[in-house]
Amino acid sequence: MADLIHTVADLRARLFPIRHERKIIGLVPTMGALHRGHGRLIEQAVSGSGFVIVSIFVNPTQFNQADDYQAYPRDLAADLAFCEQRGVNLAFVPSAAEMYPNEGLTSVNVSRLTDHLCGPHRPGHFEGVATVVAKLLNIVQPDRTYFGEKDCQQLAIIRRMVEDLNMPGEIIGVPTVREPDGLALSSRNQRLSAEQRQAATVLYRALRKSEDLVRAGETCPGEVMKQGLAVIESEPLARAEYFEVVDPEQLQPLDEIAGQVLIAGAIWLGTTRLIDNLRAAPADSA
Ligand code: AMP
Repeated sequence: MADLIHTVADLRARLFPIRHERKIIGLVPTMGALHRGHGRLIEQAVSGSGFVIVSIFVNPTQFNQADDYQAYPRDLAADLAFCEQRGVNLAFVPSAAEMYPNEGLTSVNVSRLTDHLCGPHRPGHFEGVATVVAKLLNIVQPDRTYFGEKDCQQLAIIRRMVEDLNMPGEIIGVPTVREPDGLALSSRNQRLSAEQRQAATVLYRALRKSEDLVRAGETCPGEVMKQGLAVIESEPLARAEYFEVVDPEQLQPLDEIAGQVLIAGAIWLGTTRLIDNLRAAPADSA
């Protein structure tokens, strides 16, 4: 049976002997509503660590809209069964009051990497993410922490935070898990109607179209973005929030495509926002 722990003090006490045994501690931070995408992170953690912790915490400080926070899917019993089946040793499920016992005067801001993509559209979001991940890393002190490449900007920001602040432990990126039709798995997919679910593939199709253009030698980022956006606009149920081509390390716009690029987009289907990304490179640059 995986342990279920709700407080920081209990977690630290539980991990004391584990650390003493020199077991490799792997952490998978999540907001719950676990699906096969999270499952892939957990599988990697289980194969690469001696003791695996999944944190389940719907972090209020990273939501821009109160109704999105309220509507976020929650199913703790299903999540615990999911962890159990995959060999997780411990589920850390703190309350908001446990994570934020006071108003919190300290936060982590990673500049530049937050300038584009989701950053301008979700003010304060990445500050909330970086701060809660910093707290989780301090609480758990894992040897390895696993994040999905689906949230590419989040992964880049966390890597940079860990590097800049000399946080111990390794950050491991895990490739995006998709449905057979290309839709990236997301806890938010369950909020889509049947029609929206069908329409949701448009983001992946736009990314693939852009990837093909880059691979075929298109060097103009504006042209790639324009054609990707045209794919999204062809779907009446979808509204593009952004669709951008940036350099994969600094997440900055490019004048010209000369090597590997990151193509990332966000769309709205009704009140549900979905994100996805792909990396692409000109065929002759490999
Ligand atoms: P979330 O619960 O949405 O905050 O996600 C927790 C972790 O799972 C993050 O590191 C995500 O990037 C990762 N994740 C979410 N969806 C997927 C997916 N489809 N494939 C791989 N990783 C994912």
